[in-house]
Amino acid sequence: MKRTLTASQLEPFWAFVRGDLEPLAFERWFLGEQGMEQALGENLHWDLTCADYRDGSEVRRLRQLLKDVIHDDARCECKLLRDRDVIPMGCDGQDERFFATVDRIADHGGRQWWLYLSRCQACEQHWLVAQEERIYDDFFIIRLSPGEAQAIITDSRWPSIFQTYEEVLATGLAMSQPCRFFDPLAGSLVWTVEDLLDENPGITEARIAELLGIEPGHVTALRKATSSSSPRA
Ligand SMILES: [Zn+2]
Repeated sequence: MKRTLTASQLEPFWAFVRGDLEPLAFERWFLGEQGMEQALGENLHWDLTCADYRDGSEVRRLRQLLKDVIHDDARCECKLLRDRDVIPMGCDGQDERFFATVDRIADHGGRQWWLYLSRCQACEQHWLVAQEERIYDDFFIIRLSPGEAQAIITDSRWPSIFQTYEEVLATGLAMSQPCRFFDPLAGSLVWTVEDLLDENPGITEARIAELLGIEPGHVTALRKATSSSSPRA
């Protein structure tokens, strides 16, 4: 299939498979395309033409079918990842598979120590990565266009996302699960409360509790640990 479809024809298939392109939008695009019957094979082409894209199980079946067809010799994970996605650390090896081809090429530096730019050597895709290893143990990744990546590399102009740690944790809250801590005053918790308060002194304990997946009373104890600990450089 890859040999007979152009890269721009393949991209909507990938976007549909990973869920970035809504089923009905994919259907509209697909029905408007000409000359793909030979590349897809008669059966698959017919399936994609006649399918009910409002039927969730039908859409799952088509996604799997297409994935098997287009992922046969992929050299990296990029195409399967959504434009905004989460990769857990050390869970079923997905992070190892992703970083096997993806290199860190520029650190944001400064206050945003969690943020960097990466590039895949196999497909040249650039990713913005927020590495959250305190509360959620995840990599939050954003697919960047070549222009967005170039702005970082040549002008140090970074996208506006993930500029605060609160935003990084809010992404975790929306897309992942916080870790459970055996030590209620674990450094990861104390430092995070400290950073959130530094960033935004007006943040409420309820909001901190929500972001860290703990009880509000626990935040009060962590704040005490923060103010009693010696100031960090
Ligand atoms: Zn790649």
